[in-house]
Amino acid sequence: MSTISFNRPTLVGKEFEYIQQAIDNLHLSGNGPFTKECQRLLEQRIGCAKALLTHSCTAALEMAAILADIRPGDEIIMPSFTFVSTANAFVLRGGAPVFVEVRPDTLNIDVKAIEKAITSRTKAIVPVHYAGVASDMDELLELADRHGLLVIEDAAQGINASYKERPLGSLGHLAALSFHETKNVISGEGGALLINDERFVERAEIIWEKGTNRANFFRGQVDKYTWVDIGSSYLPSEILAAFLFAQLEEVQPITRDRLKTWNQYHRAFEALEAAGKLRRPIIPAYCEHNAHIYYLLLPDITIRTALINTLKSFGVNAIFHYVPLHSSPAGRKYGRASEDLSFTQDISDRLVRLPLWIDMSDEEINRVVEAVYAALDS
Ligand SMILES: *Cc1c(COP(=O)(O)O)cnc(C)c1O
Repeated sequence: MSTISFNRPTLVGKEFEYIQQAIDNLHLSGNGPFTKECQRLLEQRIGCAKALLTHSCTAALEMAAILADIRPGDEIIMPSFTFVSTANAFVLRGGAPVFVEVRPDTLNIDVKAIEKAITSRTKAIVPVHYAGVASDMDELLELADRHGLLVIEDAAQGINASYKERPLGSLGHLAALSFHETKNVISGEGGALLINDERFVERAEIIWEKGTNRANFFRGQVDKYTWVDIGSSYLPSEILAAFLFAQLEEVQPITRDRLKTWNQYHRAFEALEAAGKLRRPIIPAYCEHNAHIYYLLLPDITIRTALINTLKSFGVNAIFHYVPLHSSPAGRKYGRASEDLSFTQDISDRLVRLPLWIDMSDEEINRVVEAVYAALDS
């Protein structure tokens, strides 16, 4: 019996052909033809003023923290139920993450909790679109606007998903995508910074190019290029951009295929939910999701542990996340919880993610479903 891994990175199109082209182009560093093609595609599809490829979503969030001009003592409001990079990017600039609660339905940031967490030091809000399901952005944007706060979307999981027909990544002042091999569209490691507020475009290009005005130089806007601001090396190589372009071209079939598997799981577990054995994901009417994650919420941690062990005995690898950031060693050192985050703690004990990748066969999906039933249907 072969093991069904939790994730399987898959080639979907012309990855090798484009890598060969990148090599033939004799341009292997960043910001070459494939980088520009990827950026153009993202700008078109998402409708942002500018997209810049980065070597990770983590890097894109770090660029966003520089652009937001985060200084020591500034506070950044975000969910505790998220990946480390959401917070770490701001801590690198001396900022203090303020962790708030998530909503019971989507596990996305609770806008009412944000309002209570705002202080005179608050600089930005960072919603995370968990599982490619949109945060409630209208309320959040209205609140941010009222308090003069920046909104930076952690859209790491949000490619090709939308909120009221607006693509995720197009809603905040800035947004960050991930192309890590565990995401829907991949390049191994990879990401993009999306800029919706034009004010940030010029400085973003400088930060991206090690703090130099190299982009202006290449456009002939200045006659020499030099060090003008802080920055770092955030550009991925053209080899990665070539791989990514092949994936981005196939984003629709990728999403369709993942949705098919997601819906098969969803139908299969309806009876267990009706019997009170688990809770399935909830997708509000205001969003179109991208099937990034299929998770189940179990009644308690003991049942989750037993489920993961039964799945293992069926050759199925399932995982859980996140250790709530407010309870992590670095989260306690650099940030604070704005309130009692017992719901976040509770779901992080009860959530399990099932295998989900492109081209999962019915046999594989059925084996996962059978294993879940074997563990819970008694
Ligand atoms: C994956 C992920 C990241 C980090 O993405 P990288 O590209 O690996 O840096 C950040 N935030 C969230 C919510 C993620 O899921």
